[in-house]
Amino acid sequence: MKSVAREKPGATHPSGGVPGRAIRGAGPPRGGELSPGGRTALRRALCAWFAGAGRPLPWRERYDPYEVWVAEMMLQQTQVEAVIPFFRRWMARFPDVAAVAAAPEEEVLKAWEGLGYYRRARNLHEAARRMVADHGGRVPADLEALRALPGIGRYTAGAVLSIGFDRAAPIVDGNVGRVLSRLFALPDAARSSAGEARLWELAEALLPSRAPRAFNQGLMELGALVCRPQAPRCGECPLRRWCRARALGSPERFPAAPLPKARPVREGSLLLLHDGAGRLLLRKRPAGGLWVGLWEPPWTERSPAEGAPAAARRLLTALALSPLGGLRRRGRVVHGLTHLELRLACYAAQVQATAGHALPSGNGASAWQWAGAAALAELPMARLGRKALAIGGDIPAGGSRTSG
Ligand code: SF4
Repeated sequence: MKSVAREKPGATHPSGGVPGRAIRGAGPPRGGELSPGGRTALRRALCAWFAGAGRPLPWRERYDPYEVWVAEMMLQQTQVEAVIPFFRRWMARFPDVAAVAAAPEEEVLKAWEGLGYYRRARNLHEAARRMVADHGGRVPADLEALRALPGIGRYTAGAVLSIGFDRAAPIVDGNVGRVLSRLFALPDAARSSAGEARLWELAEALLPSRAPRAFNQGLMELGALVCRPQAPRCGECPLRRWCRARALGSPERFPAAPLPKARPVREGSLLLLHDGAGRLLLRKRPAGGLWVGLWEPPWTERSPAEGAPAAARRLLTALALSPLGGLRRRGRVVHGLTHLELRLACYAAQVQATAGHALPSGNGASAWQWAGAAALAELPMARLGRKALAIGGDIPAGGSRTSG
């Protein structure tokens, strides 16, 4: 990472106290107002800072719209450092839109495994197919066409247009929202739709028609590196002379934290069933719920009255399988999602799986298979399934992959 730009020594700040060169008519904005001269100076300062301090990320090497789009999809809900190796592997496997569109869904999900929020991968896959069908296999350089594609909302469309094509389209993500909230001292931006709408207005009003790519990335990068949620480095900030929250002496108060939401807890039981030949029973998630198309050991939710062992036995009965030697408790998997927390008691058992045994349809599955070691490594699986496999360590290695 390149170093963050340092301020010049000996300058003065218009609001007093902190060094920085004063610019006429460009003091801390009140209520979001900035003079035209102030806007121009702010843009120049931000773009100059980004030119020196922006991180050399792989999707910034060529500014290819396809790469920018994939990176933006991966970066939703995921940190930059975590995304980089996934991005490199993805580009080696899927170098362009056509390669994604032509791949089977299971291969796309496997390439996404570990990033979580698999709906993004399915949307990316479907959007690539539509780009091939309707846009000549290219990412469209048009706001409405982008927003008509699955998984591309206002933010992603603005990011692809401005960063991928250098076209003037505003963006507001968490980092940009925080910078703007502090710059204009807006406390409620994260708590109301009116506050969010105000951020979009400001992002649009500040956006230059020339070099929107550098400006938008500068705002994002500033939020990531300098204007951090806690302990912002205001002394190093290229926008400090315009910043109202800093002038008020309490930048961390902006924006006020979102009101906390209670996350319900769901309890259940999960089965690690092996057939004695090194194969584990997996189900494929059906359409219309969580982790569509991914594989996992079967599990079921339970009511507080049922108890974990009873729920495990109920699921085993539904699968028409009998354990040899009983069910063994193997610990618990706790998995947090944005809207709930799952706590699953894990039970392992060896079961009799004869060649002709057909598993009952349903039971949260669109397909079943007995998976050997190779298939367990190959199949796309959500983190919940991987956590369960990690604690079910007595499954013998070996065996081959079969479908059922
Ligand atoms: S001066 Fe401080 S609070 Fe204001 S934008 Fe810069 S880092 Fe953020």
